Amino acid sequence: MGPSPKKPVRSGLRPRSQLVYSFGPLGTDGDKSLRDLLGGKGANLAEMCRLGLPVPPGFTISTDVCAHFVRRGGRYPAGLEKSVAAALRKIEREVGKRFGDSENPLLVSVRSGARVSMPGMMDTVLNLGLNDAAVAGLARRSRSERFAWDAYRRFVQMYADVVLGLKAERETGADPFDEVLERTKRERGMRSDTELSAEDLRGIVARFKSIVLERTGAPFPESPEAQLWGAIGAVFGSWNNARAIAYRSMNRIPDSWGTAVNVVAMVFGNLGPTSGTGVAFTRDPSTGEKRFYGEYLMNAQGEDVVAGIRTPLSVETLERESPRAWRELLRVQKLLERHYRDMQDVEFTIEDGRLWMLQCRTGKRTGIAAVRIAVDMVRERRITRREALLRVDPESLDQLLQPVFAQTELDAARADGRLLTRGLNAGPGAASGRIAFSAKTAREAAAGGTSVLLVRNETSPEDILGMQASVGILTARGGMTSHAALVGRQMGKVCVVGAGDLEIDAAARTLRVDGKTFTGGDWVSIDGSTGEVFAGRLSTRPSEVVASLSSAARPGGSRKTGKKRETPIVQAFGELLKWADEARVLKVRANADQPDQCSNAVAFGAEGVGLCRTEHMFFGDAKIDAVREMILAESEAEREAALAKLLPLQRADFEGIFLAMGPRPVTIRTLDPPLHEFLPQDEATIRKLAKDMGVKPERLHFTVESLHEQNPMLGHRGCRLGITRPEITRMQARAIFEAACDVAKKTGKKPNVEIMIPLVGTKRELDLQAELVRATAEIVFREKKRRIPYLVGTMIELPRAALLAGEIAKTAEFFSFGTNDLTQTTYGISRDDGGKFLPAYLEEKIYADDPFATLDREGVGRLMSIAAAEGRKARPKMKIGICGEHGGDPRSIEFCHTLELDYVSCSPFRVPLARLAAEVPSHSVVRRPSLCRTTWTAIFERSEPRFSWLRWTGCGAWPAVSSETRTWPTTSHRTHGCKRSNDLRGTRGAVPA
Ligand code: PEP
Ligand code: MG
Repeated sequence: MGPSPKKPVRSGLRPRSQLVYSFGPLGTDGDKSLRDLLGGKGANLAEMCRLGLPVPPGFTISTDVCAHFVRRGGRYPAGLEKSVAAALRKIEREVGKRFGDSENPLLVSVRSGARVSMPGMMDTVLNLGLNDAAVAGLARRSRSERFAWDAYRRFVQMYADVVLGLKAERETGADPFDEVLERTKRERGMRSDTELSAEDLRGIVARFKSIVLERTGAPFPESPEAQLWGAIGAVFGSWNNARAIAYRSMNRIPDSWGTAVNVVAMVFGNLGPTSGTGVAFTRDPSTGEKRFYGEYLMNAQGEDVVAGIRTPLSVETLERESPRAWRELLRVQKLLERHYRDMQDVEFTIEDGRLWMLQCRTGKRTGIAAVRIAVDMVRERRITRREALLRVDPESLDQLLQPVFAQTELDAARADGRLLTRGLNAGPGAASGRIAFSAKTAREAAAGGTSVLLVRNETSPEDILGMQASVGILTARGGMTSHAALVGRQMGKVCVVGAGDLEIDAAARTLRVDGKTFTGGDWVSIDGSTGEVFAGRLSTRPSEVVASLSSAARPGGSRKTGKKRETPIVQAFGELLKWADEARVLKVRANADQPDQCSNAVAFGAEGVGLCRTEHMFFGDAKIDAVREMILAESEAEREAALAKLLPLQRADFEGIFLAMGPRPVTIRTLDPPLHEFLPQDEATIRKLAKDMGVKPERLHFTVESLHEQNPMLGHRGCRLGITRPEITRMQARAIFEAACDVAKKTGKKPNVEIMIPLVGTKRELDLQAELVRATAEIVFREKKRRIPYLVGTMIELPRAALLAGEIAKTAEFFSFGTNDLTQTTYGISRDDGGKFLPAYLEEKIYADDPFATLDREGVGRLMSIAAAEGRKARPKMKIGICGEHGGDPRSIEFCHTLELDYVSCSPFRVPLARLAAEVPSHSVVRRPSLCRTTWTAIFERSEPRFSWLRWTGCGAWPAVSSETRTWPTTSHRTHGCKRSNDLRGTRGAVPA
């Protein structure tokens, strides 16, 4: 006997919860609004039933039961057994078959289905209900002995794997059941499973069962009820298997959500040549193009398509193969897209020419497709602009900016015969990496800093961490909807699948193709846009979006002139970001320190420079020598001579930046890093420098050593440099103001200058530096006979500065949060050395995220909140921004909304992403009530359904609100210059949800 339900215990569920929801011709309990409870699959099956679409009847056991099952160590709530039995009887009535019947047996599939799709991460059992008696009934009813035994063979194999846990022993080791299958085929001289006869399959089933007996000590369960409860338990249990946990952690899916279990009457795609099964998308999930797109296999079960074992056919050929089903499928896909108002991914089965829908869900798509579909749907009047903005994950814009292979490289590689083969272009972009044949080697090599390409026959859910670690994924088998393609696309990985010419021997670690043999560690390149696979390493060029934006940024370039040639994706990208700009209040600046970076930043939509790191200008042959002379100078005269060399070089840089930025604000930071970073390290450079300076090398050696610091990041850096060496700040201020005056003279327009003093911890430090800057400005303005308006502000990057921001704001005219250093100093973790232990901290869940990548709201965020409040108390109109790396991270940008910052600043390539993220706070953000209703609505639309608990009190003030992680203070009445007037304050009733 197989497992049976453990003894029910008193239900700990809320009384509202119905445990089991039926769907089918005799009545449907759920609908799409119950996704939390029924999971995506269950809710959409119910919805499709309600729409009158052909769905096999079934029932869904709710996610609440899963939560109970996990909490109570595998026990079910009271009443579940009865509800399941009743729901099963209902299916029997609906299809006219009986569970376990030896004449006309009902078979069911048992599938997982969480609130959000987790493709392939949890378990499924098909053909459940078969036993030695039922298989005979199935053979008689289907008039196919072979079909019945094939179904039985699949069931026993799947059940043994999923429920009884009989898996391959090692990562590359063979599955014990596959071994039997392969051996039988070899013995019979067959290539494909479909050649096996009923007799062969009968023998295989017998052998499978003896493996089960041998390995578990118990016979394979014959009772369909026992099988059912075994499968239900396994599916609930699979919520906590290693790959599902890893997937949840990667995608920030709460562990508490749980999966539902869907039990559905089987329909068979493997009933013969008039049956088949497939998956399709209502639009192209790679490019976003509006065309019905999909794949199918005749005479196959669903898993065959997704697992990528046989390479499927394109869905249009179904028109010839099964015209009735094709027409119906076209009708259904159109109806579903209209109904859900988004691109749908559907799974279907054709049983003897008749179409059945097994699943529909919002389709996963590449970043490119997300942008194009969102914009196209607005143009088709299916969704609003606001919805379009909310549908594109800012992070996914990165894919549009990813490099592609340089054309010259591609031409050369093809001419040299390095084009090995071509597969399907499943995930766009270009990737070169060293071959890894297993997920484990991929992870190990990537951890050592190697660019890795994961090369597999096909991937399975076990591979996700290896996929994550790789720059690209290449498979020999599978179609555009195979596991590798789906998951790779979602991860934004460059991905080529189904390259059938590849002969991969994972055990021997060899790849044979085009007469060549590669081994693990060899370089291979893949083009995820064309599907091409190349030997060796190829260099890349900017993506079409970047190329288009950059050409507009070049002198003489213009978006208008380029417009005619813009591809649909470039157009859609521009349009979407224009809508974001129209709606957002948080400004976006760029961290840029060279004129060309500034031009790029402006082309990407930056509204200013939030951080110009002047030290970056110091590298380069001519400058670095002058900088070194300045640092190593011992006398006033030597120092002045070095500074005089540097001044014109800095001035020229600033001129270029001001010209590129026009009237936009430019925040220039005075010298920040520890001086030793500029010092010569090797003997030859020291000797050359000594010669140039006319001093003895020994003296330079001595000075270099004396500047050495044990802990330079906490040492002689930031404003401490400007205070001990005021001539540096003076020179930099002079270069800035002279450049500003010169540009104003040249163009007739005054640059918008902001000078920022780094690493300030006391008001006095800032006072001294600000005085120097202001005094220098006066001198330059007198000399140049013109005045330029400017601000002097500071970075807030030390906890002391944050706590004493009110004092510092008496001098500072603006603040910019330097969250890289603020994170470093708040945590006491070195930015340079944290990498050694942060992965372990993340794995142990000591930190939810890398605090250097995503702002720590509780600690660093608390300091920022104090600093912003104190600063504004002292100087109400003070401009406050952020220029640490977090300024380009969507979740950190959300937090910046809550602080009502004026701008975020990030690297030029993150600017488009930040423009979208800054448009509206997304998940888990609770903003204070000075926002307009539109923004609030958007918050709730995007964060749905997690904020359904939050209610407007109607008393004119917000309640103190707490999310999963924190509590916010009640209200702030500082309004943010919102562009819309219908402020939510004063609205009564529930927050729009
Ligand atoms: C910061 O500390 O956040 C910052 C922007 O400065 P830097 O990274 O140059 O130290
Ligand atoms: Mg800093």
